[in-house]
Amino acid sequence: MAQDILSVFRQRAATAPEAPFLILPDGAVITYAAALDRSARMAALFRARGVVPGDRIAVQVEKGPDALLTYLGALAAGAVYLPLNTAYTPAEMRFFLADAGATLFVHRPEDEAAMAALCDEVGVGQRLTLGPDGGGTLVAAAAQLAPVDAAGSIAADDLAAILYTSGTTGRSKGAMLTHGNLASNAETLADYWRFTPDDRLLHALPIFHTHGLFVATNITIVAGSAMILLPRFDAAELVRLMPAASVLMGVPTFYTRLLAEPGFTRDVARHMRLFVSGSAPLSAETHKAFNALTGHAILERYGMTETNMNTSNPYDGDRVPGSVGLPLPGVELRITDPASGAILPAGEAGMIEVRGPNVFKGYWQLPDKTAEDLRLNGYFITGDLGVVDARGYVSIVGRAKDLIICGGFNVYPAEIEALLDAVPGVAESAVIGVPHPDLGESVVAVLQRRDPALDEARVLAALDGQLARFKQPRRIVFVPELPRNTMGKVQKKQLRETYRDLFAASGS
Ligand code: ATP
Ligand code: MG
Repeated sequence: MAQDILSVFRQRAATAPEAPFLILPDGAVITYAAALDRSARMAALFRARGVVPGDRIAVQVEKGPDALLTYLGALAAGAVYLPLNTAYTPAEMRFFLADAGATLFVHRPEDEAAMAALCDEVGVGQRLTLGPDGGGTLVAAAAQLAPVDAAGSIAADDLAAILYTSGTTGRSKGAMLTHGNLASNAETLADYWRFTPDDRLLHALPIFHTHGLFVATNITIVAGSAMILLPRFDAAELVRLMPAASVLMGVPTFYTRLLAEPGFTRDVARHMRLFVSGSAPLSAETHKAFNALTGHAILERYGMTETNMNTSNPYDGDRVPGSVGLPLPGVELRITDPASGAILPAGEAGMIEVRGPNVFKGYWQLPDKTAEDLRLNGYFITGDLGVVDARGYVSIVGRAKDLIICGGFNVYPAEIEALLDAVPGVAESAVIGVPHPDLGESVVAVLQRRDPALDEARVLAALDGQLARFKQPRRIVFVPELPRNTMGKVQKKQLRETYRDLFAASGS
């Protein structure tokens, strides 16, 4: 097994230098040899700016080939890569830069004034700029230098990246990922999903999140395949590029949007061998509609910032709608009682815990949180609730923080959302717990409708007889669109905040 992605990248560039690594929408190609050269010159620039192994290089730039190569450039400098969401405001960036103690910051050219002030304030000594087409100070200065490459001096247990979690349940936490974490997961996945050098991965995800950054890039490097790099998701553009592609890695909203795109047909999808979904729950409805249109069963998998990938539906076996599949080879998964920690048998819902070479080293500068979530025997307490069936398939029933306790009974949002998604006229649903004077919490369903005539009575009638009384939504709220972050995750924290007083007055 390789101990780091950088060494694998180097081998690829040595054995197949002219093989494409990045393909741009206009057809331009960046080969493995060219990508290695460009990233190694970036490494030289980082070193020239005083970066020493272990330093954190923070990056907040728009997606583009050079933006992606800053990842490999940071590793080649022996640094710790710290990608940040392009949507973060200067106020949020203040927290991340200070928390991580970044020594060098690569940011957008247009953010010059704000970021210069911020870096002075927080004490980040060095800055470089990078635009989506390679503009700014970074690429031009790097081109002048001789390549530098730290591969060979990297140990599997060295930190490769600090990746902040999405902040869905609270303040974002910096997950410390080692070179060994990244390499082992990429090797497992490339094999499990049958990647070969001929694969062309349609890449429309952001590159500051584990999914688009590590899962996509590291698998590509391990397989020696290529990524077709789109600046952002655009259904029509995906349709245009699909004949030249073989795999799509997406979030559920990619699939609902593709289904709504008139140009997306069975004929277009015929060119592809695999559609993968993750980062948020894929509804069984979307899975079935996609299958009916294209003949492809979307392969759903489950992972997180702290552990890369935990489970996947099988490549050859049954891909079960509503399930995230089986634990990946090398990953141990168990379900425990959230209160006592006791291990639960198949069929019982509880906390998902995982252990394996994919599990991170801990949260950056949060020793207490690390000790709370990472057991001494290596199991990570994911915060997700799930159930394993007799065949070993895992289904996620919600996050522990989203669990609704109504009159003392546990209500799992996913169970109700699955029923709501199947109601004709419903586009998407989110079920939340809202404070209730008698029950503690009560169930509220927030719906985005496809049919404007759909009303509360019709929804409740459709649920009739399917749910125990305590699980039935007490209110149905219709919204034009569910609040989601860039990874398509529904922001339930925000919904709970919006509807917190729903039962305060009436108590109904
Ligand atoms: P934070 O930890 O800061 O609250 P986050 O958990 O959303 O944010 P990420 O690491 O980006 O941050 O997301 C991982 C989470 O996404 C998982 O813990 C799980 O809740 C959810 N998730 C990922 N894949 C799936 C999936 N296929 N189905 C359902 N949920 C998924
Ligand atoms: Mg999380």
